[in-house]
Amino acid sequence: MLLSSTACGDVQITHFMITDSFNRTHNYLRISLTDSCNLRCFYCMPEEDYEFTPTSRLMKASEIESLAKVFVAAGVDKIRLTGGEPLVRRDAVDIINRLSQLQIELSLTTNGTRLHHFVDTLLAANIRSVNVSLDTLDRQKFKRITRRDQFDVVYDNIQELLRIGIRVKVNVVVMKGVNDDELTDFVAWTKFQSIDVRFIEFMPFTGNRWTNNQVMTLHEMLQVISNEYDFSAVTASPNETVKRFQVPGFAGTFGVISTMSSHFCGSCNRMRLTADGKLKNCLFSEYETDLLSALRDGQDVEPLIRQCAMDKHFQLGGQLAPDLNDVQADQIHNRSMITIGG
Ligand code: SAM
Ligand code: SF4
Repeated sequence: MLLSSTACGDVQITHFMITDSFNRTHNYLRISLTDSCNLRCFYCMPEEDYEFTPTSRLMKASEIESLAKVFVAAGVDKIRLTGGEPLVRRDAVDIINRLSQLQIELSLTTNGTRLHHFVDTLLAANIRSVNVSLDTLDRQKFKRITRRDQFDVVYDNIQELLRIGIRVKVNVVVMKGVNDDELTDFVAWTKFQSIDVRFIEFMPFTGNRWTNNQVMTLHEMLQVISNEYDFSAVTASPNETVKRFQVPGFAGTFGVISTMSSHFCGSCNRMRLTADGKLKNCLFSEYETDLLSALRDGQDVEPLIRQCAMDKHFQLGGQLAPDLNDVQADQIHNRSMITIGG
C-alpha cells in the first residue's frame, strides 16, 4: 500500500493508493453497468443461449455510486463505464450524472447504437472522449458480426460526437478471415478525421470459441499496413495499452492493443467491477471479490479491494501463456467478455 499526504488549506488529507504485490498502482476502474446488449457480436457473446442477469442481481445506481466513491477515496481518478452495452441500461443517465460529480476523468465504451440519445448527458457530464466499437466499414459484414443491422446508426453517431467536439476512439477487434482485409481502410479514415483507431487482437473468453489461428498479431497488422503507408510511432503516455502510430500528415492515429502477442501487464493500472458487483483484478482473472454482497451486508469494502489487488498475478491473470501459440483456451476459468466488461 502506498501512502501520500497533501496539504489542502489547513487540512491534511491522506491518500491511500491501491497497489499490488508488484508495486503497481491502480488508479483506473472499469465499471460494467450491465451484461445485457442490443447487439450480438459473435466473438463477445457465448455461443449457447445466453440469459442476461436479472436486475435484482445487478448493482443499483446508488450502489455503483457508493462503490465508486470508495475507489476514488483510494486513489482511483479514472472510471470507464462499459458492459454489455452500458447505454441500454434504463438508468444510464442517472449513473453518468452521479459519477460525473466525482473528481475523476469519466469515460465510456459503447457499441454506439444509442449514443444519439445521450449527447446532452455526455456533454453535461464533461465526458471528453468515448470509445466506440466498429469492427467493419462494410454494412453487410457489420450485420454478420453483430447479427443486427445497425451500421449506419453507429457511423452517424461517431460523426455526431466528432461534430460536438468529443474525441472518438474506434475499437476494431481484428480477426483473420473476418475483417483483416480492412486494416488499411480504417487507416485511410484517419486521413481526414481526427479519430484514434485501435485494432484489438482477438482474445479468448468463456464461450467465444477462440483459436490462436484467428488472431492477427501486432506484427502482422503493421506488416500489412506498411505495404500501403509509411507511419511513425506516437509517444506513449504512462499506462497506455495501445501502441499508437500516425501516417505523416493524417489527422488521426491508429494503434494496436496487442494483449495476445505482446502484453503490457507490467504497467497495468486497471481493475474491473462487473455489473453484478464482483471485482476482478485482471481481465483474465479466475477469482473475483464480491463487493456488492459485502456492501449490501454493510461491510467495509475497502480492505476487500486492497486484498483483491494484492492477489493480482503479474501477467494475464496468471492463466494465459504469454506466447499465444501456447494458450489453451479450454483451460481458462473466466467469464464471457459480455459479463466482464471490456
Ligand atoms: N458494448 C460495448 C462495446 O461494444 O464497445 C462495451 C462492451 S464490449 C465487451 C468492450 C470492448 O471489448 C469492445 O470494443 C469489444 O469489441 C471488445 N471485445 C469483446 N470481445 C472481445 C474479444 N474476444 N477480444 C477482443 N476484444 C473484445
Ligand atoms: Fe454487445 Fe459490445 Fe459485446 Fe458487441 S462487443 S455483443 S456490442 S457488449
